[in-house]
Amino acid sequence: MLTFYQLQAITGGTVVQLLQDSPVVHLLTDSRKLSQPAGTLFFAIKGRYNDGHVYLSQLYKLGVRQFVVEEMAGLMQLYPEASILQVQSSLEALQAVAAWHRAQFRIPVLGITGSNGKTIIKEWLAQLLSPEELVVKSPRSYNSQIGVPLSVWQLDTNHTFGIFEAGISKPGEMQKLQNIIQPTIGLFTNIGSAHDEGFADRQQKVGEKLQLFKQVKLLFYCRDHELVHEAVLANAIPAFTWSRKQQADVQISSSTISGHKTIVSYTWQREQHSLAIPFTDDASVENALHCLVVLLHRGMSLTDIQDRMDRLQPVAMRLEMKEAINGCYLIDDTYNNDLAGLSIALDLLASQPRRGRRTLILSDLLESGMAEEKLYGEVAVLTKAHQVERLIGVGPTIQAHGSKFGGDTAFYTSTAEFLQQFSSEQFRNELILVKGARVFGFEKIVQAFQQKVHGTVLEVNLDALVHNLNYYRSKLASGTKLMVMVKAFAYGSGSFEVANLLQFHRVDYLAVAYVDEGVSLREHGITLPIMVMNPSPDSLAKLHQYSLEPEIYSLELLRDFLSTARPDVNYKIHLKLDTGMHRLGFTGDDFGELFTLLAQHPQVRVVSTFSHLAGADEALHDDFSRMQLQNFRTLAAEVEERLGYTVLKHILNSAGIVRFPEHQLDMVRLGIGVYGVESTGSEQEALQPVSTLKTTISQIKQIRAGETVGYSRKGIADTDKTIATIAIGYADGYDRRFSNGAGEVLLHGRRAPIIGNVCMDMCMVEVTGIPAKVDDEVTVFGPQLTLVELAQRIGTIPYELLTNVSTRVKRIFFSE
Ligand SMILES: *Cc1c(COP(=O)(O)O)cnc(C)c1O
Repeated sequence: MLTFYQLQAITGGTVVQLLQDSPVVHLLTDSRKLSQPAGTLFFAIKGRYNDGHVYLSQLYKLGVRQFVVEEMAGLMQLYPEASILQVQSSLEALQAVAAWHRAQFRIPVLGITGSNGKTIIKEWLAQLLSPEELVVKSPRSYNSQIGVPLSVWQLDTNHTFGIFEAGISKPGEMQKLQNIIQPTIGLFTNIGSAHDEGFADRQQKVGEKLQLFKQVKLLFYCRDHELVHEAVLANAIPAFTWSRKQQADVQISSSTISGHKTIVSYTWQREQHSLAIPFTDDASVENALHCLVVLLHRGMSLTDIQDRMDRLQPVAMRLEMKEAINGCYLIDDTYNNDLAGLSIALDLLASQPRRGRRTLILSDLLESGMAEEKLYGEVAVLTKAHQVERLIGVGPTIQAHGSKFGGDTAFYTSTAEFLQQFSSEQFRNELILVKGARVFGFEKIVQAFQQKVHGTVLEVNLDALVHNLNYYRSKLASGTKLMVMVKAFAYGSGSFEVANLLQFHRVDYLAVAYVDEGVSLREHGITLPIMVMNPSPDSLAKLHQYSLEPEIYSLELLRDFLSTARPDVNYKIHLKLDTGMHRLGFTGDDFGELFTLLAQHPQVRVVSTFSHLAGADEALHDDFSRMQLQNFRTLAAEVEERLGYTVLKHILNSAGIVRFPEHQLDMVRLGIGVYGVESTGSEQEALQPVSTLKTTISQIKQIRAGETVGYSRKGIADTDKTIATIAIGYADGYDRRFSNGAGEVLLHGRRAPIIGNVCMDMCMVEVTGIPAKVDDEVTVFGPQLTLVELAQRIGTIPYELLTNVSTRVKRIFFSE
């Protein structure tokens, strides 16, 4: 057990305040993930976009009493009951604590790195090594400078085997991870292009990754990755290899696909064997072969290896959020079910604003290595700490421990029993986390909860959204505030979910077009300041009621606003200036009356003044943009002078952030970029696509030369063709201009052109030569068929295609 005072010796820091020495039980780096204040040690880490010191007071209020900080100013007075350790770097202190913890254990620890497959191999090995080994492993893909220490911290006396993955993006990082994981054996998966930009060349990247293995007794790898092989030899690391081409410990002589399996023949210890792998894709087969060599080396019998391989399941790394019956909302996480995974999923549940009660449907936890008593005791603590109000347990073990859980509970022996008794009436307006180990087949439960919809969905990748957000943040000078535009249903991506994520990632402001949009965000628990760009006079009562801040762009609107403003209430407004866009906004001519009115209403405070660029995305308009920027600076200065106080000044949209970085002023307004489209085109590569629109095939037909397809008989077949009718039309937002070959969709990775006119609810595509069947998935736009290309094809802009996706198309939000 670690106590607070010991931290001084472990980290080289100084204990500056200590009332009573007490045990350190939980490590916390993200204030939003606090679940059990007692025993929690918070590390105030300074990141690129965030400074953990900002959250000290909030955590103190919530009961946290142990802190590691870099800055001390005033802390002792503010937090008289806290134990405080001051260090040079809180991140390094966290790593030192984890390294110290790791050193207390003598079990075999496998370190995994490489470009692809780390997480899957880790999950599979944990499955394959069970039940003999009680495996502790990194939760999800916790492989970073912060993720690795948190993973290693889970090590407990009952574990017999550890598997931790390590991921790096620049030189110098692996050395630190090695020091924390202290692997006794290693596995190098392969080397690809991921994070190439952080290294001089691939060789440097391999050399850096190899740092993880500098003290291992044995390294597993595939001898066919030449760069890896050379580096291992050069560093004289003891190795155990497999190869398809060369001399190796395990030599693969053939692999053939048979049905849903791949049969691999291999030679090991001079004997020929074969193994059936229950997958056919190359990546899965490579991952399984990595697992095979580890098991062979450990001396597992060939029959056991085959038995366990047969039961391997694909690892669903996606965690999805989606609407369900009776106003319920599902978080679907069937990744695995262990304590660490459960805790992460519960964090996500707790981070969602309230909409009705919070329900957890949970299967038995498998392979935890803990005595059941203790395990379910901890599950009960976790569910309580995350404010789960209703628990539905599925499985004999959780059922046996049912009495540990308080509140509204129900238990079932099996998924089948739950489904038999399931009635949709029992669930209404709840936020439901579905978390089950693979073997429980919880996807059937998810299906029971899902609304019947036609097969068209818009998948929104929340990780990509965060990536794009951080990309734009990296361009901002420190102190520049960030407003994100979530107008028009967050550019079609789903207002509330996107707003919630942005709130979680601490942007400063949101903006919507209409009061109704703002009201809906407030009703879903969004507390960030929200600017409303087009508040109509009849919506002002609502605006006040929901604490929304209007953009005021004309004297008429200002008079309407002032007539609804009470003298005893404070209001915040934003002044829009017209600097050349000629859409909305004041010009200098209005200033006399504008400031007279404002002077008469001191309870109304201008918080910001702004303008909008008409052509920020094109160099063609640079002179005009510069004129606007200059105009704005002059007018904004006059606004401040006349008001007699300073206000936030902002003018840049997404394109402006990229092209006029010197004009960030106090805040920028990010729009399309966060949704994955870089409108200047010059930095598209740096962004990740966020939305994928998918549909399905309803019917396949053979038509003969000379026949026609669809309305007005526009699709004329010049030869015999195979066509597929797909379940998307212009009422779903699929533009009618895509008719007659202007548009294409993706099917089995191949492009299929639209034939005939797009109809209201469906359209037809030509699939001659493509192995298409009814119910196959069709991508309408996505990473391989970009919005930019499609917009060009029909002479519009990506904004229009994105925002046109109709609300009847179901949105599914996911993260990995
Ligand atoms: C929509 C909008 C933005 C964002 O523009 P993008 O090109 O999507 O970045 C910024 N400011 C105002 C006033 C807007 O209406």
